[in-house]
Amino acid sequence: MTGAADLHLHSHYSDGSFSPAEVVRRAKAAGLGAAALTDHDTVDGLPEFFAAAAAAGLTAIPGVELSVDEEDREIHLLGYLIRWEDAALREALTRFAAERRARAAAMLSRLQAMGVRIPMRAVEAAAGKGTLGRPHVAAALMEAGVVRSMQEAFDRYLARGKPAYVPRTGFTAAEAIALVREAGGVPVLAHPVRSGVLGEVPRLAALGLMGLEAYHTGHDAADTLAVCRMAEEHRLLVTGGSDCHGEFKGETPLLGRVRLPWEHVLRLYAAAGQPPPSPG
Ligand code: AMP
Ligand code: FE
Ligand code: FE
Ligand code: ZN
Repeated sequence: MTGAADLHLHSHYSDGSFSPAEVVRRAKAAGLGAAALTDHDTVDGLPEFFAAAAAAGLTAIPGVELSVDEEDREIHLLGYLIRWEDAALREALTRFAAERRARAAAMLSRLQAMGVRIPMRAVEAAAGKGTLGRPHVAAALMEAGVVRSMQEAFDRYLARGKPAYVPRTGFTAAEAIALVREAGGVPVLAHPVRSGVLGEVPRLAALGLMGLEAYHTGHDAADTLAVCRMAEEHRLLVTGGSDCHGEFKGETPLLGRVRLPWEHVLRLYAAAGQPPPSPG
């Protein structure tokens, strides 16, 4: 058994700082055999990711991370091995991008009501190619000198329950799971302990969820064990990834901090009904 995988990576097509090619370069440098690009609500980085991975000899796994806002919680759903040209998937993601734009505008209105003026173009500049999100509003707040760090922007304004927080009205969990499955993909619940949604697993499993992300930089050993037990109980796959966003938040890149054993990669392909890849 050779190769290890990092199945949770962001690029500048969402709220990461690296290009897909840079993600591939770093995955190779970290000695990984496979990597999955899982940008928030977009598959636009995948063509570049695949081209770079083919050139570098890395197994590239197509992915996406869909966000679902429920009343008192946020569910992040990873979709692996999706047919990313799928028309229904693309149509849904386009709708989602429009909604993200409206949501960013609503957050700016809330900030303005508190006397904090941030123009939309500052948020757009922070996002670049990326799907507009709270991290970009946070970056614009930092740029304007309103806060000193991204974290302060979340803690004061943008985190759930803070004054500029605006929930999403996009998918329900059932719709997100169905969307991934209808595109031939494997739906996996992202960082369930960090999101505080491990208790939702029975309900989500009944909706067609196929796996749980046990290994994650936001999970300690006890968290990982709890997720693995839950996966066993519900006969779900186990996955893992670093959730690297590059250097966007002034962080040391997390890529490669999670090294998922190859057997889990093989199970993921089997669950999608696809032939096994060879480690890159
Ligand atoms: P959005 O998709 O616009 O709701 O933004 C979600 C992203 O914001 C997450 O993927 C994280 O990258 C970041 N984020 C969410 N909550 C926090 C928080 N409390 N502190 C720092 N970053 C956060
Ligand atoms: Fe993110
Ligand atoms: Fe997430
Ligand atoms: Zn993520």
